[in-house]
Amino acid sequence: MNVYDSDKMLEILSKSGYSSIDNPDDADLVILNTCHIREKAGEKVYSDLGRLRKLKTKKNLDGKKMFIVVAGCVAQAEGDEILKRAPFVDIVVGPQTYHKIPELLKKVDEFVKAEIDISFPPEEKFKLLPQINIKRNQLSSFLTVQEGCDKFCTFCVVPYTRGSEYSRSVEEIIAEAKILVSTGVREITLLGQNVNAYHGMANNGVEVGLDYVINKIAEIENLDRIRFTTSHPRDMQKNLIDLFGYQEKLMPLIHLPVQSGSDKILKDMNRGHNINDYKKIIHSLKEARPEISFSSDFIVGYPGETEKDFQSTLKLVEEVKFSQSFSFIYSPRPGTPASIKNNQIPEEIKKSRLHDLQKVLNNERSRFNSSFVGKKLNILLEKFTDTRDEFIGKSEYLQPVKIKCRESLIGQTFNVFVESVDSNCLNARLVN
Ligand code: SAH
Ligand code: SF4
Repeated sequence: MNVYDSDKMLEILSKSGYSSIDNPDDADLVILNTCHIREKAGEKVYSDLGRLRKLKTKKNLDGKKMFIVVAGCVAQAEGDEILKRAPFVDIVVGPQTYHKIPELLKKVDEFVKAEIDISFPPEEKFKLLPQINIKRNQLSSFLTVQEGCDKFCTFCVVPYTRGSEYSRSVEEIIAEAKILVSTGVREITLLGQNVNAYHGMANNGVEVGLDYVINKIAEIENLDRIRFTTSHPRDMQKNLIDLFGYQEKLMPLIHLPVQSGSDKILKDMNRGHNINDYKKIIHSLKEARPEISFSSDFIVGYPGETEKDFQSTLKLVEEVKFSQSFSFIYSPRPGTPASIKNNQIPEEIKKSRLHDLQKVLNNERSRFNSSFVGKKLNILLEKFTDTRDEFIGKSEYLQPVKIKCRESLIGQTFNVFVESVDSNCLNARLVN
């Protein structure tokens, strides 16, 4: 979602004459769009700010200006604490106020005083964001349809930093999707903190679910692929499951975080579902689309996680056979209920569990990738490889696929024949 938000910031600022560059040394304006989900991400902001301070001082000595903006969820959570620790920062904006950066820049420039705006809610932001006005040169793009969360899992900061659940209207989403496709986008990933909790207004004023939005977007000519992320097991409604059975533009891969394989831990996390519920959803999705694959998020070392709880997670992984996953060490976040529990797990145990889990997840991923050798697979051809002697495409399951072919095939989706796998990349040739 931060990638999407950063693109939006660039679009807004392009109206004031800004464009993006690769190196902060030459920048008139630097925006750090930050993430607060785990401690490490938060810490990074301050080390990056330390480097930027030197750059800004040097520029100022040369008589030039450089504005520094801290945006995103660290900004939302820490507010004026950022200005106390880093007084050379000019603007602090949250995920719901970044559309105000141009007007805040004017104020900062005029009054030479830092500005903070970390107010909610998101409705205003989406209404005020300009329409896409720069050529993105992308074949694949994100599109935020839903933001925020009301679920309050005990470990998570999102409800505090992104605010409560909000769904954009169908009209707004379709308009944005059409513009994206007109700029050459062939694959859209609909985004939301809980994307399948989407409940927006259709044109006739009736509230609709994500399945409706996907079917509407699928009508756009030249859009070949649709994905959505991140889904919550609690919001996996039948209509959305059924959609995998008939909507051909919907890719056969779903990211469905489970966090833990232990019912006790899930209950303590306030996830609102148990392992049996999760397995039932997996089963229904497979019934709707037999070739579907699953990815997930896992947290190890949540307070009170015993060896037995952890073994239940490994067992679940072996049963479901996820094609790819993200796994994290539990990170206590300020203000969340889990962070003040007195049964925190020692760091060495957390690390060793993460290592064991990732070993099993990596094996599952390799097994999944190898299962395509000797088979046909559909890819969207994206670009040259770094060495420029081959091209790289993305399969329906998000696997990178290398192939020798004509440059004119970039942007097209077609079947290839998979010949081998190295590490996580598939090697393929054109189907005759
Ligand atoms: N809404 C999605 C997840 C959004 S956060 C869901 O509920 O499934 C993305 C992922 O970050 C989570 O799935 C979780 O695995 C991880 N995460 C969130 N808070 C964390 C914390 N305090 N420590 C470690 N990982 C965390
Ligand atoms: Fe965080 Fe997801 Fe739980 Fe919401 S549902 S609190 S975003 S982990």
